[in-house]
Order: sequence, then structure tokens, then C-alpha cells
Amino acid sequence: MHDRCRTLAGAVLRSALVNDLDFDKLLDAMPDAVLVADMESRIVYANASVHTLLGWAPEALIGQSLHAIQPERLHEPHDIGFGRYATTGVRSLFGVPIRLTARRFDGTECDVELNLAEIRDTSGGRLVLGVLRDLGERVELERHLAVLRYLRAITAAAAHLWTRLDPKLVLTTLTDVLVNDFDAALARTWIYERETNLLRLTTSAGLSTRIKGSSRETMDVATHPSKVAAVARTRTPLIRNGLTDAAFDQAWIEREDLKSVACLPLVAGNHLLGVMVGFFREPMRDEVSETIGHLAALGAAALNDARLVGQEREARAVADRARGRFELLARVSERLARSLNLEVVAQDVADALVPDFADWCVVDLISESRSLETMAMAHRISEMADRIGRLRAMYPPSERIPPHAIYRAIDSGRTVCETVNDEELVARAVDDHHLALLREVGIGSHVVVPLIARDRVMGAVSLVRGPERPPFDADEVATAEDLARRTALAADNARLYRSAQQAIALRDRFLAVASHELRTPLTVVRGNWELLGRRLRSMRTASDGQREQIDTSLRRLGQGIEQLRRLVEDLLDVNRLRGGSVELHRTELDVVALIHDTVAGIEDPATRAQVRLTLPEETVLGWWDAARLTQVIHNLVANALKYSPPGTAVEVSLAALDTKVTIRISDSGIGIAADQLDAIFEPFSRAPNASAQHYPGLGLGLAVSREIVTQLGGRIWAESPGEGRGSTFVVELRRGSPA
Ligand code: ADP
Repeated sequence: MHDRCRTLAGAVLRSALVNDLDFDKLLDAMPDAVLVADMESRIVYANASVHTLLGWAPEALIGQSLHAIQPERLHEPHDIGFGRYATTGVRSLFGVPIRLTARRFDGTECDVELNLAEIRDTSGGRLVLGVLRDLGERVELERHLAVLRYLRAITAAAAHLWTRLDPKLVLTTLTDVLVNDFDAALARTWIYERETNLLRLTTSAGLSTRIKGSSRETMDVATHPSKVAAVARTRTPLIRNGLTDAAFDQAWIEREDLKSVACLPLVAGNHLLGVMVGFFREPMRDEVSETIGHLAALGAAALNDARLVGQEREARAVADRARGRFELLARVSERLARSLNLEVVAQDVADALVPDFADWCVVDLISESRSLETMAMAHRISEMADRIGRLRAMYPPSERIPPHAIYRAIDSGRTVCETVNDEELVARAVDDHHLALLREVGIGSHVVVPLIARDRVMGAVSLVRGPERPPFDADEVATAEDLARRTALAADNARLYRSAQQAIALRDRFLAVASHELRTPLTVVRGNWELLGRRLRSMRTASDGQREQIDTSLRRLGQGIEQLRRLVEDLLDVNRLRGGSVELHRTELDVVALIHDTVAGIEDPATRAQVRLTLPEETVLGWWDAARLTQVIHNLVANALKYSPPGTAVEVSLAALDTKVTIRISDSGIGIAADQLDAIFEPFSRAPNASAQHYPGLGLGLAVSREIVTQLGGRIWAESPGEGRGSTFVVELRRGSPA
């Protein structure tokens, strides 16, 4: 189509020439500017449209050099090209549309398309015909399209920027977009560290990272002479065409053929976050300088969000870690409170720490002879615990040089926290088998915390992580120390408890043997005392006075023997009743009658008169062991009389229900402190007020009574408003059945 038009135009022109039509009018009617120049590059013809396009009056151009309508920078290339054509006739630019910039009359420039053709004047001389077409609108359109393209690239980048808000990723996206979409030859970003006022080179794309290792990898914003530092300092973008400034490495600029640079600060709010730089091989086009600012703004916003997300993530991680530590401490404390057994305590702690806090854990105690006694161990993989056991048995931690971390912790009383690499394992291993075991259990880092209680180092807790896990950080070491403190305290309590238990067991064994051994001679003494009494009383030779003296001595002796007998019986009872070796003989009996009889058994009439009974008239039957129940009532009444002032009343009452009876024995005596109400039922336990006021007693009666009542299926307890305010002992018994 285009070619057909051209042919047509040629035909019209030819006919115009042939028919001698007004050729000038024809050319003036054309919308394009038409110029004809001779071989000296002088304008010999210009049509009317020259004025519309270039602002020149056509006649004013006649005789002028073509330079008149060219920007100065194109003069030299024009002269060279035109000169070559004039002398050689080589028409390299003819026949193809050329895009170039023309200069208007007023000095402004415009984009034009130039088509060249050679024509001849009437004498056959060569002339050059140029047709200039205004490209202003098209160029503008193209520019808009380019802007659109860049904006689209930026929008696409935005989607990417916010997918994973990580600073490094944001900056990588920026450099990639600069290179791939903005055609940068080299793109770089620096991140700004506010604390140090440093810019740190973070991402680079395009040309080789030649600058790596140079002074530009980190730059002090305050002092560095580079443009990048200046942009950060002033927070003002630098967009420059022509890179002749000495601040740029000229050799490099020339070698890489770089023409322009855009260096923009990444700023969000008032915060400088970094700097983004692009070097280009083209002069900076308007569309790039217009849109690159958007990219920087977007990058800065994403970077800021990434920073905030990072801060939040960090804060959440800190809170999570604190919560984890708190939960761990609570878990361990709870376990520590569960038992007073040393091994159980240690194993509970080890189990609570593995596998979350450590991959494996060993709790050791140190003996007087400085050997280690392993109290507990736990491993993430349960079978591995045996492996640790084997390792410890075959290759016990050595205290020789270099001493094992456990000995170092125990001897210094301080935590040992170390990372351990394979070389150190090799150095530590005694032989190949030892090394294999060490590698197998997995040692990458350990924390060994001494167990200290009452200023004494008892042992150590060793916490170990495998090489694949990060070593313990400062917070975790503090947690381990806290745990060790609690463990040491619990272990110390367990140890004290164990020695107290051992002492009690020893005492009980001794008393069991002693009371048993005392019983036989006591029976002999008692028998002989009775015999002696009978014989002396029948002696006729004694006077009345002598007889009276003998009676008094015999009575006192009898009282002493009875006291001793009760004591031995009580001792035996405590042990037998607790050991479960006493069988109760239940029969149906009337507890009202039993109480009457027990009180009636009090020998001294005055003492007996102190006891006031409030008992039902009728019988109250139940299935109990008569002798044992009598023993309980007797103990309680005797105590009430013993621990209250002479002559004061002791009340004994009985309340009966269908299924149970409640017996209460109250006095107005020395009373019982609240914290002693339960303790006095322990064997050999006496309240401080009883001992302080020198009441005789061993603290066995109540222990025996509780054992009996418990075995009868009942309960016994003491009540008192406090010391000096009297006491009440309550016995509650189920009436029961023959079974
Ligand atoms: P004992 O009387 O031989 O000390 P018990 O086992 O009978 O042994 O009593 C234990 C302790 O209970 C006494 O030492 C005393 O402190 C306290 N106690 C028992 N009965 C009374 C009471 N009626 N009033 C005050 N304290 C009492």
C-alpha cells in the first residue's frame, strides 16, 4: 500500500513537471516539511510546512546550512556523513526512515522522522530532498507506553515484595526489577543500620560484583565520600546523565560503557532504611526517572513493613521463649514437689528437660571419695539412655588433666557452658570405642551446672545438645541454673528426709528389740514382788510399824513396776500395731458400760470424782475390741487428768447415732497449740508446753490410740482453742458388724 502511494506520488510529480504545473503549490500543500539541499549542505528549497514544523519562514532558510535546523551536538556527525556522501555518492541513509531530533527556530528541539531522496536539478547536478514528519505525538505516546510498562513492572514487583516480608528478599526484588525491567546494567542496594550509622551492601545484580571487598561494602554515612553515602546523608535522590564526576570510577565507567545513574534513598516516614542504585548504559530517559522513584518508595514501604514484622516476630519469639522457660520451671518444680526420694526427684528433672530443652541429661552426685554416682539420665531417644550408661560405666568422667566438665563445675562451683566439636571429642576419647560412643550419644554443646545446697556442692546436672542443634544461649543457661538451684534444694530435702527416715527406722528397731528384751525380766521382777509381798505380810515377827513401812515400800515398788510394764507394753504396741501384727478381737459390747468401767477403774477416789460422765441411759452397742477400746478411753482420760490442774473437771460424753458413736473427752488444762494438734499423734511426739512444764511422759499413748482407732475403722483427733485453754479429744467409731 505504502509503495503504491509512493508510485502514485512519483507519477503526479512527473506529470507536474511534464505539464509545467505549479510545482511549488503542490509541495506547499503537503503536511510534511520538505527541504532540498545542495552538495554543500546548503538549503535550496523549503516548503510551507517547514514553518509549521520548525517555526522557520521557508524563505529565511534558503541559503542556510542544514546546521540551522539541527541541534548542535548533531553538527559534527552530520558533516562527516554528508561530506562522505557528497564525495563518494554512497547513500547509506537513503530510502529508510531515520529518527532524529531537529532544532526549531526558537532553539527548542523536536522529534522527527526523516526520509531522504536524491534528485537532480535541471543541469543534472545532485540535490538531496528531505521530507520531515513530526513525531512529537508518537514519541509522547511511546513514552507513555514505556511509563506504563515500568509501572506494570513496579506493580508486579509490589506483589512480590509483600509475599514474604523479609528485608533481604525485598532488596533482592528491587535489584532484580532494576536489571530486568529498567534495563540497569548494575543494580545494588545498601541497608542502613541506625545504631552504627553504616550502610551495608546487601544485594547486587547485573554486572559482576566487582566492588566486593572494597571500601563500598560498608560505608559510614557521616564520612564516606561516595555519592551513595551523600544520598543517604541528604536523603535526596541523585539522577544523573553523563558520569564524568570524579566520584565515579572513570576507568570502570568507560570499560562498562555506562551513561547514567539513579541513586535513591529508601525512606519510610522519617526513617532512612537504605539506598538503591542503578547504573544504565543508556542516557537516563524521562520515563525511567519518572518511575524509578515509585519503585524506591514501594521498596522502602515493603522494607519498613518487613522491619516491623521482623521486630514483631522477634518480640513474639522472646515472649515465646520466656513462656517456654516459665512452663519448664513450673513443670520441674511441680515434679520436684512430688517426691522425697532422691532418685525419683533426679529422674523427674531429667525427664522434664529432655527432649525440648536438651537432647540428653545426666544428674550426678559426688561422694566423699569424689566418685560420681549417677542419680538419673534421660536421652531424647530412649534406647540411647542405656548407651550413656555404658559410656559412663566404661569411661567414667575423669578428674585428671584435663578434668571433665562435671569436675570443673563441681570444683569451681560455677556453671560450665561450652560448645564441643568433633576434634575435641577425638582429643577426649581414650580409645576408638570411647570415641564411637561419644559420637553416638551426640555432643555439640553442653551446660554443666553444679548442684549447691546449704553452701555444699552435692553434684551436677549435665545438659547436652547434639551437634545439629544450636548451643545454649545466655537465657537458657540462666534457666538451667535456676533449675539446678531448685533441684539441689529438692535433692537436699530428699537426702535429709532419707537420713531422718533411716534414724527413725533405727530407733524403732532398737525400741522393738529393747521392749521385747525388757518384758521378760520385768515379768520376773513383778512375780517376785508379788511373792515377796505375800511372804512379808505373813511374817509374824514384824511389828505394826514395821508392817506399815513394808506395805508402803511394796506399794511404791508395785506402782513403779506397773508404770514400767505399761511403758514396755506401749512400746511394743506401737511397733506391733504399726507393723500390722496385732489382731483385734471384735465382740458386741456396750460402750456406755465400757466407759463406766474404765472410769471406775481409777484407783484414787478423788481423781475418779473429777471425771464427769454425760452418757446415755440405755446401752449403746457396737462391734469393737473391748480391751483395746478400754486402752484408748483410759489413755485419753488419764491424759486429761494429767494435763489439767488438780481438782478441775474432766468431761466424758457420748453421742450415738445408728451407724456411729462419738466420744468426747474434754479438760480445762494446758491446751494444745494449733500446729501441734496433729503432730502429737506421732510416736514420741510431745507438745513443747507439756515438756516445758515437766509433765512426765514419752509421747506414746496417743500414737497407740490412733493406731487402735484406725484399725477399728474410726477416727481420732484433738481440738483446742490454744495453749492454756483446755483440750478436747474426739473418737469417732463406726458401730460396725461382726465382720
Ligand atoms: P505423753 O502424755 O506420754 O507425753 P501421749 O501420746 O499420751 O504421750 O500424748 C502426746 C502429747 O500430747 C503429750 O506429750 C502432750 O503434749 C499432748 N497431750 C495429750 N493429751 C493432752 C491434753 N489432754 N491436754 C494437753 N496436751 C495433751
